Amino acid sequence: MMLTGFRWLHLPEPTHFLFISAWRTAMACFDARPRPPSEPRRGVAAALDARLLPAPVNQTRPIIRTTQGGSARSVRPPARYRGLRAACATAAALLATAGPPDTVADAATLPPSGPDCTVVRCVALTFDDGPTQYTPSILHLLEAHHAVATFFLIGPHALQRPALVRREQHDGDAIGDHTVTHPHLTALSSARIRRELDGAANDIASVTGRRPTLLRPPFGAYNPRVSHVAGQTGLAVIMWSLDPRDWKKVTPQAIEQRVINRMRPGDIVSLHDRYARTPKALPLILTDLANRGYAFVTVPQLLASSGGTRPGLVYHHGPRR
Ligand SMILES: [Zn+2]
Repeated sequence: MMLTGFRWLHLPEPTHFLFISAWRTAMACFDARPRPPSEPRRGVAAALDARLLPAPVNQTRPIIRTTQGGSARSVRPPARYRGLRAACATAAALLATAGPPDTVADAATLPPSGPDCTVVRCVALTFDDGPTQYTPSILHLLEAHHAVATFFLIGPHALQRPALVRREQHDGDAIGDHTVTHPHLTALSSARIRRELDGAANDIASVTGRRPTLLRPPFGAYNPRVSHVAGQTGLAVIMWSLDPRDWKKVTPQAIEQRVINRMRPGDIVSLHDRYARTPKALPLILTDLANRGYAFVTVPQLLASSGGTRPGLVYHHGPRR
């Protein structure tokens, strides 16, 4: 854990004080940290690096429903630390050389860098139920359009197609939990919900080396019990604000039109990589939204702009810009 690094605080060795200062600087401007190789900057996201843009005048906060009775509250956006990029780079370099391994691993859990979605129009495309035979074409299209997305995986599917999971990870896409057997979680006991969430999280971690922190409940079915268990399992519940209904027997054109006509900045879009029609709709969606100035981001990138995610809370969309 990160705090174990501070056990050195009681030791007057200059190197350790230097490390602590570097770490504090890095924490102060964590959103400027260098991305690890598994999270490469790409295309539009790189070009729209929010820290190169002016400060937002009016920040929009996302609606975050708590686990208790659906009441709404908002989370303060993180303070902006501009002008610290050089200090961050120095701190990161010091951490790379002086930081103990457990501290470096903890840095990987910090919110990923990406555009500031309180400034830039962002959209988070999400794909549930994979990986499947349709996943490669989706990954190919995302890469061709310099876009990243979020994939919510069924545990056994991840084990059946680990190469696709690793490709998602390598491409900078986010990976979340979509249970083991795809049940209606609201019909299950707390113990069975936990088995579903933990089982898929373990399956995913066995492939990626990292436990997911996001849950997409199958069918979007959640209640206070589900979100409570999700919180205990370290998972934030990620719903959506735009449903193109690709799960219905519709044409690719119907999916395209529903996305294009209804898109608003900050939307989380619910799609699936289990139907042949979904990748057929993607080229026009990706082209049209890019032409309208949208940046395609992962769910963690989208929500990092407004304070990040917390286990057990339910998120429907990001900043409306
Ligand atoms: Zn599903």
